[in-house]
Amino acid sequence: MKGSNKQSKIAFGRFTRNEEAAEVNMAHPIEAAADQLTLDPENWNELRQLGHRMLDDIFNHLETLRDQPVWQPLPEQVRQAIREPLPIAAQGEEKAYQDFLHDVLPYTTGNRHPRAWGWVRGNGTPFAMLAEMLAAGINTHAAGGQQAATYVEEQVIAWFTQIMGMPAGSSGILASGGTMANLLGLAVARQAKAGFDIRREGLQGAQQPLIIYCSTETHMWARKSVEFLGLGQKSLRQIPVDENFQIDLGALKQQIQMDRAAGLRPIALIANAGTVNTGAVDDLPALAKICRHEDLWFHVDGAFGALLKLSPRYEHLVAGIEQADSLAFDLHKWMYQQFEVGCLLVRDAEAHAATFASQASYLETTTRGMLADGLSFSDRGIELSRSFKALKVWMSLKAYGATLHGQLIEQNIEQAKYLVSLIQGHPELELMTPRSMNIVCFRYRAQDVFNKELDQVNREIVLRLQESGEFVVSGTTLNGNYVIRIANTNHRSRIEDFEALAAAVVAQGRLVAAEEPVFAIEG
Ligand SMILES: *Cc1c(COP(=O)(O)O)cnc(C)c1O
Repeated sequence: MKGSNKQSKIAFGRFTRNEEAAEVNMAHPIEAAADQLTLDPENWNELRQLGHRMLDDIFNHLETLRDQPVWQPLPEQVRQAIREPLPIAAQGEEKAYQDFLHDVLPYTTGNRHPRAWGWVRGNGTPFAMLAEMLAAGINTHAAGGQQAATYVEEQVIAWFTQIMGMPAGSSGILASGGTMANLLGLAVARQAKAGFDIRREGLQGAQQPLIIYCSTETHMWARKSVEFLGLGQKSLRQIPVDENFQIDLGALKQQIQMDRAAGLRPIALIANAGTVNTGAVDDLPALAKICRHEDLWFHVDGAFGALLKLSPRYEHLVAGIEQADSLAFDLHKWMYQQFEVGCLLVRDAEAHAATFASQASYLETTTRGMLADGLSFSDRGIELSRSFKALKVWMSLKAYGATLHGQLIEQNIEQAKYLVSLIQGHPELELMTPRSMNIVCFRYRAQDVFNKELDQVNREIVLRLQESGEFVVSGTTLNGNYVIRIANTNHRSRIEDFEALAAAVVAQGRLVAAEEPVFAIEG
């Protein structure tokens, strides 16, 4: 260990001052490096071997996913095991890993499985997992500055600017997910359209209440965000939707006029490019026009729908998205990346920076050195310390190309169409909305079950499918009816999986419908 001390002296030998300092250090009471604490392994080969074993184990796990349950409830003893007292003394890496294998690995949300279609969750990919490992290994601080991570993230943003058809030079940032990307977009909208210096005055400086528009089908991030941005729920006008779950344009225009007449200040509109419930896409070209006419910021939530731009066959479904002032989407949904990664694009780079750019003496921008050109990503969002999320996206696009990603999206849509054909071909299954993109809403329906009981029957089917470990689907309520809902952002699903799902829903439905007492109690 004294040897390694010498080595570093040789490596830095040209700096005479350091050498002197090192000599001074030698007189320090802690004389040998061996006595000093670190979290690096004492024996690199041992940890290396454990690392190789972990990699083999997780690859074996991913390779045999089909043989495992999608999901299973946590047994009480596993909960108890996780609730252990604070480890004061070291238990060792091997023990920590064994506990992971035993208490964690079997009990997850299972969205990596080929038969998981609940909510909207991607699978992750083995290669993006490896990229995440590399990002964790180098552990770079991705706020900006002179380092490759800055250029990699800028490049990923430039690629998605191109994919989405927004003008070159648009600004952007990778965020933890759709919620954060949308929130940041709305913060830019508020700053750009408030009509006063909101960074200085805050909302206390507002002469008129600021108003934002969306539809009743907009994801809950919008309400959370207006609450968080200090605008409050009352500032969010949730406009009704038509029979296709698209925002009602007439009602929107009328509401804007009423708000202006009441002395309020409309500032932004949130459009949906793929709603979470049904995959509905608002009339984006018409909304863009209304926004220009009314001087509203045009924000688009394209959490998964925006990724249709990767598909030549389906990109027309989100035509108009390129007119967004700001556009948020996830890469951990329909680009199947590991959690977490979402993206915000902002057409007006200056407006983006004007919302977040901040200075501090300890982060002085220089023309040379590591902070040269400043902390560009810290200046486009809230976070200062950031992980290198861009690496997995950059490496995945290089490894597999945009074309394959578009084809996978098309495959998911074809699979959803196939499921619809199975539903329509079965007398006990009922399609509840026209399929939109990759989302199918349906229910089990038996002749002798009353409509009000169907809600309970289908709720029960969803839970039993989850508990069986065979499928994870979710449910939602549409037009007052509970429906089984699948969102297919799964690159592992095969056509047989949807055949199995349709058969399982019918089988469970018959069982549940025959068990009337259950509903007598719950109803
Ligand atoms: C998933 C989703 C969100 C939220 O994204 P997260 O990554 O889960 O934060 C927002 N809008 C829509 C339409 C979504 O599907």
